[in-house]
Amino acid sequence: RMRSAVEARTPDRLRSSIVCIMGHVDTGKTKLLDNIRRTNVQEGEAGGITQQIGASFFPAETLRERMGSLVEKKNITVKVPGLMIIDTPGHESFSNLRSRGSSLCDLAIVVVDIMHGLEPQTIESLTMLRSKKTPFVIALNKVDRLYGWSTVKDRPFIESLEVQPEGTRSEFESRASQVLLQLAEQGLNAELYYKNKDFKEYVSLIPTSAITGEGVPDILMMLVLLSQKMLVDRVMWCPEVQCTVLEVKVIEGLGTTADVILANGTLKRGDQIVMCGFSGPVVTRVRELLTPRPLREMRVKTDYLHHESIDGAMGIKICANNLEGVVAGSACLVPYKDVPYDLEVLKEDVMSDLSQLAKAASEVNGGVGVYAIASTLGSLEALLEFLKTSKIPVSAVNIGPIHKKDVMKASIMHQFKSEYATILAFDVNLTKEGADMAKELNVRIFTAEIIYHLFDQFTAYMADVRKAQQAAAALTAVFPCVCQISSPEHVWCRGGGGDPILVGMDVKEGTLRVGTPICVERKGQKDPTTGLQAYLDIGRVIGIEINRKQVNMVKVGQSAAVKIDAVTTVQFGRHFDHTYEMYSHVTRPSIDALKEFFREDLVNEDLQLLVRLKKQFGVL
Ligand code: GDP
Repeated sequence: RMRSAVEARTPDRLRSSIVCIMGHVDTGKTKLLDNIRRTNVQEGEAGGITQQIGASFFPAETLRERMGSLVEKKNITVKVPGLMIIDTPGHESFSNLRSRGSSLCDLAIVVVDIMHGLEPQTIESLTMLRSKKTPFVIALNKVDRLYGWSTVKDRPFIESLEVQPEGTRSEFESRASQVLLQLAEQGLNAELYYKNKDFKEYVSLIPTSAITGEGVPDILMMLVLLSQKMLVDRVMWCPEVQCTVLEVKVIEGLGTTADVILANGTLKRGDQIVMCGFSGPVVTRVRELLTPRPLREMRVKTDYLHHESIDGAMGIKICANNLEGVVAGSACLVPYKDVPYDLEVLKEDVMSDLSQLAKAASEVNGGVGVYAIASTLGSLEALLEFLKTSKIPVSAVNIGPIHKKDVMKASIMHQFKSEYATILAFDVNLTKEGADMAKELNVRIFTAEIIYHLFDQFTAYMADVRKAQQAAAALTAVFPCVCQISSPEHVWCRGGGGDPILVGMDVKEGTLRVGTPICVERKGQKDPTTGLQAYLDIGRVIGIEINRKQVNMVKVGQSAAVKIDAVTTVQFGRHFDHTYEMYSHVTRPSIDALKEFFREDLVNEDLQLLVRLKKQFGVL
């Protein structure tokens, strides 16, 4: 199916490359985008930039202008028709630009604050880009904040650096090498772009200021060069449609519309399109293809231009029936007309991104974990990426508002680990029926608009759960111990008939604790079920004193006065005496509780003793 489309590609016709801006919050992504687009400046569209749906387009001529003196200095010929920069920065946008498992984003700018270096979302961005093999540059932003920086607006960075005072230059050098070092720690080879001799092996670092515009010419130049050097094959125009849904929204007078990025191919009115929906594939037909009316033509009847057909790359608004159920981040597939196609295969294809995310998330945890839900494929991917790095296991995923059936699925975890009967919801609403069902089935729901907040809520909840479980487990858990009554003189109460046993004891191995159940051998008797030595339960330790001070435990080598809540039928002198070794009575549940909740309190010797006692008592 692909072959004939591939053959139709031609190097004589390139499409513009699609660029995303990513990075940590507050590094200056929005500001940089504004500066590149000149949103704040009067020039506006006079600068040649055209507004598309969800993206801004920079034609070759504008790029040449903005590069200024660099064009001559670096001898640049712009061969690409232009660059298309996605208007919403962030890794969800990047992640929403997906089609058939690969990314439609051709290039990315990762913004790093030169004063802060690498931050968590920087690293997430790098991970995403590398996993999708998307080439990128790093904008080392906010250089104007270096001490003593002297500014000339919109100057290429290499010219700016030359005229900085000595101290400023050396601060720059040391901060830049710090970032290079941090990148190396992430396994990433990078170099300041003007020292970079190998674009394929080394990522370029481009110092910028989003406020003064310094370094912006350098960024545009690098994007053009990367497009031409590394992407020619990708950006060849080709008739087969590559398209992805960025956003689904209701527009007055138009109804529900889908904002799509058409990366390649031709989309026509009347085309059949297939997309991923909240409840299965959506198949519909394009009713209208719209792009924004250029600024100076605004105020005429509508804000949109209508098209019969549009070639990629272009940001377009599509009107069609049944768009309400479409998931943002879905591929928008169009049957390629020259070859027979199977609609069922396309439907499956279009759902595969979601099913693959679900599969990847649940595979690692054996199906036990929280239920993750988000608003778009991109935000779901970002959420899952985050849960993975936070080591929060996931059992199942979905997209869209939280419905009854999501809650029911999440409640299954009550059978495995009750604390995972929890929904972590990112940027989605909870339906009324969903909320009611959650109450009924005792499913917890955490919602947040910032992924980090979900993590905070969930970890706080898990800490509470663990505390409660630990308190409950303390009654079951038994620490391994071997002890013995110190001498016949150390017996103050013999027990029997409901009396406690009060004796002096030496701990020979492990630790004796308040709550420990104690037993002794029934000499000469075998346990009828295991065939092993039979034991007699004496009772639980209810008090320990060392030098008349109450304590909770006695360690190996220490002695203490020990009070045991003795079984009424058991008495010192009749069933055992000071020559008997006494053991803590371990069982399967006591070992499980110990290992699950008190692992950090166990030393190597404890573990070895536990193995021995397990054998001794025949615990399977
Ligand atoms: P975003 O969260 O990454 O989109 O960051 P913003 O673009 O909203 O910028 C965050 C803050 O940093 C704002 O107060 C900006 O004015 C400021 N900022 C962004 N870029 C620069 C820069 O190059 N220099 C300086 N001095 N401040 C900047």
